[in-house]
Amino acid sequence: MIGIYGGTFNPIHRGHLRAAEAVTAALGLSRLLFVPSARPPHKDSDAAIMAPAQERLAWVKMAVRDNPLFAADDIELERPGPSYLVDTLEALGQRFVEDELVFVAGRDAFCEMGSWKSPRALFAACHIAVTSRPPALDGGLPDWLPECVRDDFILAPDGRSGRHRRAGTWIRHLEIPALDVSASAIRDRLARGVSVRDWVPEAAHAAIVASGCYNEDPKGVSPDAPGSSPTPGEEKP
Ligand code: ATP
Repeated sequence: MIGIYGGTFNPIHRGHLRAAEAVTAALGLSRLLFVPSARPPHKDSDAAIMAPAQERLAWVKMAVRDNPLFAADDIELERPGPSYLVDTLEALGQRFVEDELVFVAGRDAFCEMGSWKSPRALFAACHIAVTSRPPALDGGLPDWLPECVRDDFILAPDGRSGRHRRAGTWIRHLEIPALDVSASAIRDRLARGVSVRDWVPEAAHAAIVASGCYNEDPKGVSPDAPGSSPTPGEEKP
């Protein structure tokens, strides 16, 4: 089974890697593809602080290169127009005809999926692994499953899984030891000149900082440049 980890990765952070490792182990994935979106249709308000897609892809590549089960995939960067997951899944389904696909979503992203393009087709096209993500939220799939696909699924009595009535796809809620990190908090720290060394993958840290993409003043001192303050890791994830 191949996992698809979609996101803006603006930038990739340690919370992404922690979730990716936990899901890969829990589901015994043969591969996990990180798929940065080129033009995310749902993050328009964030446009001013969206790093160029090629930069975000490059950082993902650096972050995953030491894990043989992980790979960065540029499928959404190759396609013009908004990056709709349903289109990506169709293309990946043609590429991996022998494999089942599971989309990996944090609980926050999963709750939003009813507003994504063609949600009913989406939920019928792949399995979905929903991971926990701080802050902890009461409830489970019965509370989070988007309204528009509710009738398509039979949920287990414990609320931890569901099966599509016709398509044979499933949804599973995976409790993982998630890290309390977000890309928006990282962008905010970089703009304020605070270190993000403990928050982003070590292999991508220097490139993210050097890009200056999130600097409030692009000519200012990089927060993680030698001699800059405050101390790296001062504010922990
Ligand atoms: P932003 O703060 O800009 O909204 P983000 O940190 O949520 O970004 P995305 O690239 O939008 O990062 O997220 C991609 C996927 O990773 C989503 O499914 C999201 O729920 C999940 N994810 C992000 N951060 C974490 C985390 N700390 N733990 C578990 N899952 C996460």
